[in-house]
Amino acid sequence: MGTTIQAQFQVFEETGKPFQFKNKEFQTTLGPGEAMVKIILSTICGSDINTIEGKRKEDIPCILGHEAVGEIIAINSREGFSLGDRVTWTIADSCGKCPACTEYGLPEKCYELFKYGHGSIHNGSGLNGCYASHIHIRKGTHMVKVPNSVSDKAAAPANCALATMVNAVSQTKAIPKKAVVQGGGLLGVYACGLLKEAGVSQIFCLEVNENRFQLIEDFGAIPVDAKDGQKAVQFILDRTGDGVDAVFEVAGIKELISQGLALLRPGGDYILVGLVHPDSEMGITAEQIIRKCIRIKGVHNYAPWHLDESIAFLERNIGRFPFDELVRPPFKLNEIQEAVHEAQKQKWMRVSVKPYKT
Ligand SMILES: [Zn+2]
Ligand SMILES: [Zn+2]
Repeated sequence: MGTTIQAQFQVFEETGKPFQFKNKEFQTTLGPGEAMVKIILSTICGSDINTIEGKRKEDIPCILGHEAVGEIIAINSREGFSLGDRVTWTIADSCGKCPACTEYGLPEKCYELFKYGHGSIHNGSGLNGCYASHIHIRKGTHMVKVPNSVSDKAAAPANCALATMVNAVSQTKAIPKKAVVQGGGLLGVYACGLLKEAGVSQIFCLEVNENRFQLIEDFGAIPVDAKDGQKAVQFILDRTGDGVDAVFEVAGIKELISQGLALLRPGGDYILVGLVHPDSEMGITAEQIIRKCIRIKGVHNYAPWHLDESIAFLERNIGRFPFDELVRPPFKLNEIQEAVHEAQKQKWMRVSVKPYKT
């Protein structure tokens, strides 16, 4: 099924080099199950900032950007979807056949994994990322329709940050009564909202940036100033007795691991999400884990069902939590450099980008 589009996109070539803006005609053949999606709004994830700053390596040149919401403008044999549908999609394209897909329940670890916003411009049609007017959705990618009540701003970060936290929060043995979230960035506030909705009665969110405290409260948690770690631990232990049932690490700071252990009650769950980088030597002993009988679980990305649940969570809670306030009003696609600078300042949980011509 042939489709011709005029696409605009920003190419990332290497650290230190400005993005290259391109405007090019694409003649693409959509195979069965594939779709061409017009990007409505994308958001800049922290992992893209790391790539831009040279802290992680991607297949370059590439179109970065993996968090977005879009509209289907062409589709070939995909049941349940039609032209004009407003959708989001899994960051991962999986084969559906390998052991990770069929036996381990981890399609995000597929042996044939392809990740949007992480693939070379020479892979497939090249329209693989979200800092663009269009993206080519592959057949092993799970798509989800976004209800009208869920705004573009609320929907855009769902397919990375929110779905990852839906996965993380689903990993505890039982719904905790008391929980700690280490880090009050976007992952952290999503964790707070998810735990609140699940009925967790005491949620503490450790954060050093006081400007984030109001949002943390708005998402149902008690913000705890983490600048003085000792004091913060005491504050939480004073209110929880022997500690909390679950700790969620989303700050990406290795020194916080021993703090998390101190906050866990015996037999608690420690869910690690943020420390997904090489500088993550934990500095704890096996004895500490054994004597406290705790369980440590790593979470990296998510599976299709977590994205379904993310969109359902947004729909159920759109009036309850201020999702729109997490995202800055959009930059235009040709202003990607300014958008990245704004994201680096960390004033907003997310900076958004809108293709100026679609
Ligand atoms: Zn991301
Ligand atoms: Zn697979």
